[in-house]
Amino acid sequence: MTASPGPVSARRRRTHEQILAVLAEHGAASRAELSRRTGLSRSAVGACVVSLLSEGLVAEGAAPSAAAGRGRRPSVVSLRSATGVVVGIDFGHAHVTAAVATGAGEILAECTGELDVDGRPMRALDTSAALVGQALEASGHELAHVLGIAAGIPGPLDVRTQVVRAPTILSDWVGLDPAAELSRRLRHPVVVGNDADMGARGERTYGVGRGLDDFFYIKASHGIGAGIVLGGRTYRGSTGIAGEIGHTQLPGATSWCRCGSRGCLETVVSITEVRRQLTHVLKTGAGGAAAEVPALADIEPNSAAARVITDAGRTIGRVLADLVNCLNPAAIILGGDLGTAGTPLVVGVRESIDRYAQPASAHAVSVRSGRLGQRAELFGALATAVASPAAAGAAGG
Ligand SMILES: [Zn+2]
Repeated sequence: MTASPGPVSARRRRTHEQILAVLAEHGAASRAELSRRTGLSRSAVGACVVSLLSEGLVAEGAAPSAAAGRGRRPSVVSLRSATGVVVGIDFGHAHVTAAVATGAGEILAECTGELDVDGRPMRALDTSAALVGQALEASGHELAHVLGIAAGIPGPLDVRTQVVRAPTILSDWVGLDPAAELSRRLRHPVVVGNDADMGARGERTYGVGRGLDDFFYIKASHGIGAGIVLGGRTYRGSTGIAGEIGHTQLPGATSWCRCGSRGCLETVVSITEVRRQLTHVLKTGAGGAAAEVPALADIEPNSAAARVITDAGRTIGRVLADLVNCLNPAAIILGGDLGTAGTPLVVGVRESIDRYAQPASAHAVSVRSGRLGQRAELFGALATAVASPAAAGAAGG
């Protein structure tokens, strides 16, 4: 039980607002993190959290178990509304997932549909709206309970206009305003962002990026994109399309890329290409049937298949080394389909960083797999929904 808050002075109210603003901006946080981010003493944060708990504006409990981490889960404070939930939508190249979660990121229901997202945007948008309806029903909630909705899309979105831009990537979506399209279908405001940025936010809020203010999240799947966090904020560039590292030219690579250029990073290490390379080193089945590529997480260390993955890591790391020199991040977090390969991929990226980045910058950066796997983008959308203006307004009053 908590003490009665009593009359709240103007100073205490300001403290409350500071804490609520941090929770809206960064998602759930421990008391120690709140103290660090607000500059308030631990005791001031403690008193404020007790007061906010008694007002029903925040909840405190174990961090969500989305991640595969072991050991005791840390206690975190999160925004709360008595009946409110948030909705996150993750558009991949060939799937859409919608999830309903509490403000603390605990998923209540999740629905997925497989379809050609790249080539059939209207169908993908319709499907996502249907999946949101299904997930809400499965969670026992309705639209009136939804505090915020956010979605990640696998393509470049112009932050000035909210319209999908580059004509060569996600070309069937060009000119579409996904936020407006989704808001109309769901009859609720929707915040839309790039999928790699969502992945970065997911790992920062619920995964291995917690407490990091300068890092790259690499979504390595059909395309390769970077979510760049600098000084505690997502760096999107002047028009919102920063981080398209998949179209960096590799010396000696000559294959045509979907962007119209030759020799791009993603022509060599997209998940499709890596799976094709793996078929060369995996044993063929009875009668010479094509080798079945296992889940990347199941690949034996020190096997020929692990070498293919490590080599892919070296290739990605070569491109990242230049970015490490420019931006001096504290961490590189590997996500997406390829990110699930774990150690062999990390080893390859690490080797190239050590070989090609300046020693001081290489020394400063850790390379690790994400904790949320292929669900980092979904969790990032949920964290964005929690911090969306509608949700913050409902929780903060
Ligand atoms: Zn390209």
